[in-house]
Formats: sequence, structure tokens, C-alpha cells
Amino acid sequence: MNNFAYSRAADVADAVRQIAADRNAKFIAGGTNLIDLMKYDVERPVRLIDITRLPLRAVEETRDGGVRVGALVPNSDLAYHPLIEARYPLLASAILAGASAQLRNMASTGGNLLQRTRCLYFYDTATPCNKREPGSGCSAINGINRTNAILGTSEACIATHPSDMCVALAALEATVHVAGPSGERCIDFADFHRLPGDTPDRDTNLESQEIITAIELPAKGFAENHSYLKIRDRLSYAFALVSVAAALEINGGRIRDARLALGGVAHKPWRDREAEALLQGAVPERTVFAKAADRLLRDAKGYAHNAFKIDLARRAIIRTLAQAANATPQIQSVKKIR
Ligand SMILES: Cc1cc2nc3c(=O)[nH]c(=O)nc-3n(C[C@H](O)[C@H](O)[C@H](O)COP(=O)(O)OP(=O)(O)OC[C@H]3O[C@@H](n4cnc5c(N)ncnc54)[C@H](O)[C@@H]3O)c2cc1C
Ligand code: SF4
Repeated sequence: MNNFAYSRAADVADAVRQIAADRNAKFIAGGTNLIDLMKYDVERPVRLIDITRLPLRAVEETRDGGVRVGALVPNSDLAYHPLIEARYPLLASAILAGASAQLRNMASTGGNLLQRTRCLYFYDTATPCNKREPGSGCSAINGINRTNAILGTSEACIATHPSDMCVALAALEATVHVAGPSGERCIDFADFHRLPGDTPDRDTNLESQEIITAIELPAKGFAENHSYLKIRDRLSYAFALVSVAAALEINGGRIRDARLALGGVAHKPWRDREAEALLQGAVPERTVFAKAADRLLRDAKGYAHNAFKIDLARRAIIRTLAQAANATPQIQSVKKIR
């Protein structure tokens, strides 16, 4: 680990000032990803700007019926917040599927969005990795790629985004509020994370001098018919091989609105509007779920060790949609898949 300076931000404007003054500085929130990356010598910030004392810990209702979540709300507090449990149980469930209780106590809402990939080679500085060192090559494409992506990959990178929370936020169509030197702006969740293309070193469209201040959830929470299913090698404390967030609005025996987002399969939470359109207006039954799964996975591409994910994702989508339609969501404390 390299030496680094440490300072505290007094307020959001001061945080932006400090990060803009030093292009090699980084914000630190819970530190559960950044400190690991520094220990592995993957990240080498010359300064850590501690943002943990900023007043960004509120969960509050918005005027248009949604909920605004401060960027420093710990993952545990968010999952167990009464507003989230009652109105956005899909989000609560996805958070509880992730990490461990101790990590969720430390991890912040903003930090969760910006956690970096778990590709083995990204953490191994002895190997080429375009994400860590642009232009050096991708060790995963012809290497051990069991956990890597099957959708939206490029010749430069086949990494996945590891978050569970973000998969639910994608399905719920959250908005990310950020502040930077030129003021505040909002980014639709679908536009926040990027596909690797030929710049896999950039995970998101957040500028380096910007800070996430909040996540906003729209009024519609799909509280009746939802499910988050996470398939992983161990039943806890492991990242998703494939995860599915399904949210349905069912009325008069038909699906009126449908959201489907996948984790563990791409560089960003993966949504496919054509697959969702197949569900809309349909009677919620297995054949329709299978058609939506096939549509979503039509361009999926497996590599030497991860081709199994294509069939796994297909079955997980069908299962999760059935759980959502039957209003029997996956319970994260009961690991048996219902
Ligand atoms: C062993 C282990 C298992 C895990 N398992 C899972 C899992 O199953 N599912 C899952 O979803 N996650 C999992 N995680 C990841 C964990 O959820 C993230 O590490 C955590 O959410 C990051 O939040 P943080 O506040 O600790 O971020 P930090 O480590 O403090 O920061 C992460 C990055 O975000 C930046 N940052 C932080 N806050 C802001 C902000 N407000 N504005 C701008 N930049 C900011 C930092 O500069 C840094 O680059 C696991 C982590 C570990 C260590
Ligand atoms: S998949 Fe991406 S993160 Fe993994 S080795 Fe290749 S370039 Fe690096």
C-alpha cells in the first residue's frame, strides 16, 4: 500500500473543491472496496477525501411520491428502512442478498454503485488487464472466465458489475443525483454504468470531479409482485453468477407493466426493453416468461468457462418471473430457492 494524504470534507461544496484540486485523489465512504483495492495496489490515490461526515444520510419522501436516499445511507439501514421495506421490497431484498451483515453496515449507497468489478485479473497486478491498465490486454478472454460476462462484452473487456443493489435500482428506474464543479445534475440509472467498449477503464458516466449525493426512487415501487433471485457458488458472502430482479404490475389477470434486470452477466445491470415488451399485456405464465428470457438472451455469448451462464440465466429469469407473478418473492434469509 502506498502512502497517501487524508482530509475530511466539510460539506458537499468542499468535497467537490477538494477532488477538483487533485486529480489523483479519491473519496472514501465505507471503504469496503477502495481499501481492498489499495491493498492490492490496484488503486493508488495520493489523497483520500473522507466524506463520511457529510449530511447525506437521510431517507425521505419526495413531493412527487418517490423516495430520496442520501449517498451515505448504509446498505443495512436502507434495506431495513420502513419506507423501503413497505414500498420498494425488491430493493430491500437485493441489498440483503449481497455481502455480509458487517459489510452492509459499512457500505454506503453511493459506494455500492461505484464498486469495481470482481474479475480475478483486475485484482492481480502481475497480469494484463485493460480495465486496470488501458492497452495492456485482457487476461480473462482466454483465461479463467467462469464469473465473467455473457452480454454486452467487447474485445477489450468481459468483466461484470458485481452489485446486487444496482440490479434492483435498474429495474426500479432510479435516478442518480450528483454534484460537480459546474453544479448539480441527475443521471438516469440506465445511463449511469457503461458497457466496456474500448474504454473499459471507465465504469460509469460519473465525471472524476463529481460526487454522488443521492439516489431517487420514483413513486412506483412494484411492492405487490416482485422478486430478486441471486444464484451464486456459496449461499452467502459470494457475488452473483446470475441474478434477476423482476417487477410486475398485474391487473385483471394480465401483466400491465414489467421490469426485468439481470446482474452478474454484463458490465452493467442488464435490461432489455424488447424482452419487457413481450411481457406487457400477456397472461403471466411460463411460456411467456420463457419467450422473454429467450429474447433477453438472444445475443448472449459464452466463453470457455462461463457458457453455462446462458442456460442458468434463462432458468433464473423464468423462475424469478414466476415468483413475482405468484407474489412469492425469494426470501433472502431462506436460501432455498422457492
Ligand atoms: C468480501 C466482500 C463481499 C461483497 N459481496 C457483495 C455482494 O454480494 N453484493 C454486492 O452488491 N456487493 C458486495 N460487496 C461490495 C460492497 O457492497 C461494496 O464494497 C460497497 O457497497 C462499497 O461501498 P463503500 O461505501 O464501502 O465504498 P468505498 O469503498 O468507500 O468506495 C468505493 C468507490 O466509490 C467512490 N465513492 C464512494 N462514495 C462516493 C460518492 N458519494 N460519490 C462519489 N464517489 C464515491 C470511492 O471513491 C471509491 O472509488 C462485497 C464486498 C466485500 C469486501
Ligand atoms: S475482463 Fe476486464 S477486468 Fe477482467 S482482465 Fe479483462 S480487461 Fe481486465
